[in-house]
Amino acid sequence: MQTFTPGQDGYREEIAGFQTGIESAPKLVVVATTADDVAGAVRHAAARDLAVAVQATGHGLRAPADGVLISTRRMTNVEIDPVSAVARVEAGTTWGKVLEAAAEHGLAPLSGSAPGVGAVGYTLGGGFSLLGRRYGLAADHVRSAEVVTAEGTIERTTDLGDGVITALEFRLVPVTSLYGGGLYFDTPKLPEVLHTWRDWTADLPDTLTTSLALIPYPDLPMVREPLRGKHIAHVRVAHLGDDGPRLVAPLRALGPLVDTLKTMPFTDSGSIAAEPPHPHAYLGDNRVIAHLPDTTIDAILEHAGPGAPVPTVLIVDLLGGAYVHAKAPDFNPDSRYTIRALSVLDESGPDPVRAAHAKLFAPLTATGRLRSFVYGQPLS
Ligand SMILES: Cc1cc2nc3c(=O)[nH]c(=O)nc-3n(C[C@H](O)[C@H](O)[C@H](O)COP(=O)(O)OP(=O)(O)OC[C@H]3O[C@@H](n4cnc5c(N)ncnc54)[C@H](O)[C@@H]3O)c2cc1C
Repeated sequence: MQTFTPGQDGYREEIAGFQTGIESAPKLVVVATTADDVAGAVRHAAARDLAVAVQATGHGLRAPADGVLISTRRMTNVEIDPVSAVARVEAGTTWGKVLEAAAEHGLAPLSGSAPGVGAVGYTLGGGFSLLGRRYGLAADHVRSAEVVTAEGTIERTTDLGDGVITALEFRLVPVTSLYGGGLYFDTPKLPEVLHTWRDWTADLPDTLTTSLALIPYPDLPMVREPLRGKHIAHVRVAHLGDDGPRLVAPLRALGPLVDTLKTMPFTDSGSIAAEPPHPHAYLGDNRVIAHLPDTTIDAILEHAGPGAPVPTVLIVDLLGGAYVHAKAPDFNPDSRYTIRALSVLDESGPDPVRAAHAKLFAPLTATGRLRSFVYGQPLS
């Protein structure tokens, strides 16, 4: 088992993850490749009264690690049992690898928008997938987990609450393709798109999962035309069924700048949200709400629209559907929409971003907050 201590060659590289805005300085990094490595690291930390932190991809880092950091990124084995339609994935597995392995058997995981996210960290937060309105939370499809307890013993459990997970078993769903993609609308259409999307989501079948993102695209060469430098409304759609074109017609009628909707293999589902795959520093928070009234749409446009003082990616997700049966303890089944705010951190630091997000959330009557979509270190 490989380990790193501060100053050693490879220490910084092992700590580096997708979120670059958190500066961890663990006393010891344990590069785990087996459950026994994880158990050994936990016992080592317990004997020295050091905190244990776990990192797979680093997408969801919330606080700097200062004790023992267990790096699981090399634990990426995936096994699919096609008969029971169950996947067993090791702690560091990303959704991309599970998508490919499951597709070989005509199956799909309840993965999310970005294939680079870790399956275990995602599921620990509930797991809001591209098929969420049809199948509910990914966590509700978990069959069992292999967990290292705080005492350093390895146990099999269905309780994801405590300990370090070394492997997870979850049910897959019989999905090979979907109708999905995005409609990208130009800046002057933002209010109309927000209102139309809200009205459209009042009566959609559970086979359709959708979100709406307002994205301030920077005026940089890496951003493709015609989106570069514009504040875009991006409607994202993932639908199981052959009536997709009919269902999206009211939004298409608004005249998108770019239309990527098509039937695609589920393995291409990362193209729907098309999130940037490069590591960067970001701060994000969210609220869950039961209704999306005009006053909330006004607040969104004021605090995360084209005139907002801090550039913010604002995402509204439609919940409902199978989410009303969600069993996760911190999820309120009456939730209808999420409002997520995410801003890239620059040299001005986190304070202006925290202030901007607080102004956005202040007028909302929130019914909850999802830990999955808390990024970096918001204040509360
Ligand atoms: C671009 C992007 C897209 C996303 N899309 C979605 C989405 O569509 N749906 C959704 O629900 N979420 C989504 N998320 C949120 C994501 O699920 C969380 O950030 C999740 O925590 C990431 O897990 P990770 O293992 O990749 O990240 P890491 O930062 O490596 O881990 C995050 C945290 O999970 C815990 N953890 C990780 N592995 C273990 C383990 N083996 N045992 C115990 N604890 C562990 C630790 O507390 C760790 O700090 C997205 C995030 C990003 C940045």
